[in-house]
Amino acid sequence: MRKLFTIVALLLASISSAQDAPLTFKATEVVPGIYMLEGDGAFAGGNITLLVGDDYNVLIDDAIASFAPALIETATELAGGPIDFVINTHVHGDHVGGNSALSDTGAIVFAHDNIRKRLADDPTEAGGPGGLPVVTFSDAVNFHVNGLDAYVFHVARAHTDGDAVIEFRGANVIHAGDVHFNYLFPYIDLDNGGSVAGYLAAQRRIMALASDDTIIIPGHGPIASKADLQAAIDVLVDSEARVKALVLEGKTEDEILAANPLSSYHDTWSWGFITTEKMTRTLYRSLTSE
Ligand SMILES: [Zn+2]
Repeated sequence: MRKLFTIVALLLASISSAQDAPLTFKATEVVPGIYMLEGDGAFAGGNITLLVGDDYNVLIDDAIASFAPALIETATELAGGPIDFVINTHVHGDHVGGNSALSDTGAIVFAHDNIRKRLADDPTEAGGPGGLPVVTFSDAVNFHVNGLDAYVFHVARAHTDGDAVIEFRGANVIHAGDVHFNYLFPYIDLDNGGSVAGYLAAQRRIMALASDDTIIIPGHGPIASKADLQAAIDVLVDSEARVKALVLEGKTEDEILAANPLSSYHDTWSWGFITTEKMTRTLYRSLTSE
């Protein structure tokens, strides 16, 4: 957990030097009553979905802890009242950081069992012990609110071992969390139970639910379509195959990095956190530990 916190801190430091400026959240209404929120001008965490309506206000993920006050201000203003439920897509601090602050406002946090287990060991990333999820599930849970069904389902060993994807049935919107990084190499957290095979299986499960005009909210990057998700799957499948071919030739990790098998993807997919080198190392490690 401590390591994750360090990663997030490094990410913050590397992505933005504009941390002194007061951060606000930008809201995009993707369909009536469903917004995507993201840090405006600085990295505040993963993409957030806000569902508002007559019954309940629901937030999916809640940014880095230090940005919780700004997030709560934006979300309650859009919702016209407090947030009733929070759903965590996974354990990383850039997705659960506002848990404690939101709990203090009366929100009830829902998450997969493994998120609570990991946060119970060290709740720092959720803003402290008050950030532990109150309601947990192992496979799926449905929210019936504001005239639609939000189907929250677990995808096993994908980005981590506690991932959830949310399908807003009837609204044609899917919140993928970090099971999709849009035109960014994905972070597959092998140390927290993630796996390349599980990641691809989760992406294909979303593909099976989506139609050509489904709006897919990724964990990071701009709003995506089914075609964008397919592009990410194609890149990951091909990247794994390229690294695997070199592993089968008996090449070492250093030799594979020197050969740079993912070079043709570098310009579009490499980014500050998951560089081409890190993606190559993750695939090497995944392939050689199976
Ligand atoms: Zn993550």
